[in-house]
Amino acid sequence: SGYHKVLEENRKLYNQVQDLKGNIRVYCRVRPFLPRQSSSMSTVGHIDDGNIMIITPSKYGKGHKSFSFNKVFGPFATQEEVFSDTQPLIRSVLDGYNVCIFAYGQTGAGKTYTMSGPKELTEESFGVNYRALNDLFHISNQRKETFCYEIAVQMIEIYNEQVRDLLTNDGPQKRYPFVKILLLLFFIPLLVNTLDIHNSSQKGLAVPNANLVPVTSTTEVIELMNIGQKNRAVSATAMNDRSSRSHSCLTIHVQGRDLASGAVLRGCMHLVDLAGSERVNKSEAKGDRLKEAQHINKSLSALGDVISALAQKSSHIPYRNSKLTQLLQDSLGGQAKTLMFVHISPEADAISETLSTLKFAERVASVELGAAQVNK
Ligand code: ADP
Repeated sequence: SGYHKVLEENRKLYNQVQDLKGNIRVYCRVRPFLPRQSSSMSTVGHIDDGNIMIITPSKYGKGHKSFSFNKVFGPFATQEEVFSDTQPLIRSVLDGYNVCIFAYGQTGAGKTYTMSGPKELTEESFGVNYRALNDLFHISNQRKETFCYEIAVQMIEIYNEQVRDLLTNDGPQKRYPFVKILLLLFFIPLLVNTLDIHNSSQKGLAVPNANLVPVTSTTEVIELMNIGQKNRAVSATAMNDRSSRSHSCLTIHVQGRDLASGAVLRGCMHLVDLAGSERVNKSEAKGDRLKEAQHINKSLSALGDVISALAQKSSHIPYRNSKLTQLLQDSLGGQAKTLMFVHISPEADAISETLSTLKFAERVASVELGAAQVNK
């Protein structure tokens, strides 16, 4: 059994090294048909571990198109399965790495489901962000003989290139439900601060003036997420459902002190639920809607440009072209590790968005190939 132990240790080490090689990995997740939908023909054909085949109608050159990613999750994959491949990344945050996990795809394809879970949350349906924090608490507790960890979170939203803190206090309204409702309806969208993203080398925080809340248990995290989601939802009703047209980001800051040497490690993880990637119909996009669409296009294409520049090992990486890429600067490129979950819907009428989502994802996935080649 000693021999097996050594083998197991070696396997773990090998996996960790592999994990460090490709800096960007891309997982694809297919949403199941929803109960209310008449299950029309699915556009998703064969899926295996890392490949997905899309059946294209005649308009797109009838036939099949195949795409390859680090991992493909079919419609029956559970939240636990989806998370299990993410766990090594979580561990690396405690070792002082920066990590960025983001969810990409058209509205309704399952981004929020993956990152947070469904509306009616159960332990089984917890999304990546609850599970990630759970793991961080768990592992930091396991290491408590050698390390003392502090974990704190920020939650922000980027809407029309403005950054807002989602963890603002609801202070005195607590005692007056009526006042609270009024405040929620009218004032919170105004009270929620507009913040600047600073170069994260300042104070070590990407958004130094957003509330940074220490957390020690999953229960506290759930409470915070509820506040964050409420703040986001309130802004949404006041300004038409905007949650699908803003990026939301949960940032987890970890600081660990080695009890023997006193050395301090800092790692951070951004968990980003991106705005819907769908292109708006030109005829319907006017006024605010057009402005929103332009901002979303701008930030998603800025993200694509940063990733392309990283892939080409360009000397200039254009982080400053959008708030989103500024925020993620320390977690994209360099030693940081990035994971993108791309989401697609199986419905026939989503085919055009499905294809453009998968093409964007392939562009991102090619960065990993670049990194792997360098390491060979
Ligand atoms: P998005 O965030 O991309 O707009 P949502 O996560 O809100 O999409 O998903 C749209 C709907 O589909 C929600 O009702 C959600 O609960 C459901 N859904 C998404 N993914 C899954 C899944 N893998 N299994 C079951 N239901 C899902």
